Amino acid sequence: MGSGSDDASTFKPVPLQEVIVRPEWQQHFIEMAYLVATMATCPRKHVGAVLVNADKRIVGTGFNGSAAGMEHCDVVGCDMVEINGRMSCVRTIHAESNVLDFAGQRARGCTLYVTVTPCFECTKRIVNTGIVDVIYDEYYASQNTERVAEYFRDAGVGLIKHEVEETAIGHEVEASIP
Ligand SMILES: [Zn+2]
Ligand SMILES: [Zn+2]
Repeated sequence: MGSGSDDASTFKPVPLQEVIVRPEWQQHFIEMAYLVATMATCPRKHVGAVLVNADKRIVGTGFNGSAAGMEHCDVVGCDMVEINGRMSCVRTIHAESNVLDFAGQRARGCTLYVTVTPCFECTKRIVNTGIVDVIYDEYYASQNTERVAEYFRDAGVGLIKHEVEETAIGHEVEASIP
């Protein structure tokens, strides 16, 4: 241990107000979804989802990974299957489905924040649980993605692109709606 006050190993916290502007709620929950996505176990895509109720309280979080107790892609490799001409990893449960499995009926009336556009299978489950809005950040093409927007519209569920602000944790968004 060094003894000088300018020792590089000495932890010097920067006052929070100097680096962070308090984000809007939508920004906050999208950034949280990106944090959750870091726990994903399929290397093909890391996705995170945060389920939030009408009081802005988090009901649950989910990332894409294997079913409980099963081996993960980052250990045994992806389980690739060609579906409709597109190669997909079928080992994982998607982030959105994971959080819905956890939340059950508490998902009704909630808003779902997710780092990417849901796939068509998750879309049907989201509609089925009574979620009112889906806020996503990055457009991501998967099976039948082109039908997702229409399906949500028919169901009366909002599908909303998050508009990026200055981020508190420095995430950069790469993709946009095609
Ligand atoms: Zn995988
Ligand atoms: Zn999905």
